[in-house]
Amino acid sequence: MSSSKSSHGHHWPIVIALVSGAAAGVVLQPFVSPAEGDPAAWAGKIIEVCRFFADLFLRALKMVIVPLVVASIISGIAGLKSLDGFARMGLKTWAYYLFGSLVAVCVGLMFVNLVQPGLVDGAPNPTLRAAMDAALESEEAGEVGEIMKNAEGGTASLVDIVRRAVPTNVIDACAKGDLLAIIMFSILFAVAMVLVPGGPPRALQDTFNQLTDVMTLITTWIMKFTPYAVFCLVIPAIATVGLGVLQNLVPYVLTVAGALLFHLLVIMPLVLRFIARVRPAAHFRNMEDPLLMSFSTASSTATIPVTMRSLMENSKVSEKVASFVVPLGATVNMNGTALYECVVVVFAAQVLGIDLSLTQQFIVVLLALVSSIGVAGIPAASLVAIIIIMQNAGFSEDMIKASLGLILTIDRPLDMARTTVNVFGDTVGAVLIARSEGEDVDGRVA
Ligand code: ASP
Repeated sequence: MSSSKSSHGHHWPIVIALVSGAAAGVVLQPFVSPAEGDPAAWAGKIIEVCRFFADLFLRALKMVIVPLVVASIISGIAGLKSLDGFARMGLKTWAYYLFGSLVAVCVGLMFVNLVQPGLVDGAPNPTLRAAMDAALESEEAGEVGEIMKNAEGGTASLVDIVRRAVPTNVIDACAKGDLLAIIMFSILFAVAMVLVPGGPPRALQDTFNQLTDVMTLITTWIMKFTPYAVFCLVIPAIATVGLGVLQNLVPYVLTVAGALLFHLLVIMPLVLRFIARVRPAAHFRNMEDPLLMSFSTASSTATIPVTMRSLMENSKVSEKVASFVVPLGATVNMNGTALYECVVVVFAAQVLGIDLSLTQQFIVVLLALVSSIGVAGIPAASLVAIIIIMQNAGFSEDMIKASLGLILTIDRPLDMARTTVNVFGDTVGAVLIARSEGEDVDGRVA
């Protein structure tokens, strides 16, 4: 990959956009989502315009993902002299994904059991219960019905995820942006390039190297619009939060936020310091762009180009490792999502007065772990997984609808937070694998 200048120091305009966007969102909130009466038409127009510009930016980022991922995986692997150690890297990566998500789910379980956000004095919170019933009847139910339809026929099984990884038609997988299938095919293609008799075909190798450089340059251009896009993304995210319900949900929001922060600021730094042997402060600084981007977009997939760029340019992780760990991680490694799913299900059970036995909690943990692998890296994707977990934990259809109706009102800000943890987990994985492969990662501890 051609080295352009480091992306350090570009983050201030993004921070300013984030803060001013949030402030504008707060000012607009009473007009966009009033507790009573209809929203103001002019405020709706502003939200529409913001969404339009934010959408343009997200579309542009998504546009580069498929060619960038394909080209960088192939040029990263096909450039290897031999495949010795490649399978080992794959195993280490999967071991890290599973370990990270399992720890995250346990953190979620611990917080939700300690804080018990759905209970008052050991009994289901009546205000929350009433809010759930109201949500079941309000128009949110329409949106919930839509999500429930998407979940129909969906399973949280590993077999399904493995099946999805083998595409029947590569062009179709690319057209649909089915990343897991695309990644698997790209790896297969690159491995075949290394093993083809007579050595890697030079022309193919050059083509993919150059394609990576071109796609990286386009990413850099798109990134120049980040501050404006962040401003437009954050306004609707804040303005559409229903503040009336929010008051009742404060303990729940604090539980999710506390657990996510604990994973981000305690568990991950420990992994960085003692397993990856990289200074956490240096890593956080190097990852400013992906952190801000994942928070603003609530999409791990849309953040892929930025994550790869920061890892290679700031952390000096090789293309081989970054192109393998990041796209795969954005698709299957979701620490924040796994944690969130667990908290939501146990919280809803508390409000509904469902007493989850230890075995049932264990099932929730397992399903949260497995289903987070299958969740797509796009906003609100985990809601479908939550439905599937609830079905398996014995919730009735109405209970699921009521729970979803309640948590939907505050899902977007929490989505932004969990996506940040998802993406940060991928970056920690990348430096950890890079270090274990003997790479000279920035901020390493001797
Ligand atoms: N928005 C999340 C992501 O892209 C997925 C989710 O939890 O909804 O990582």
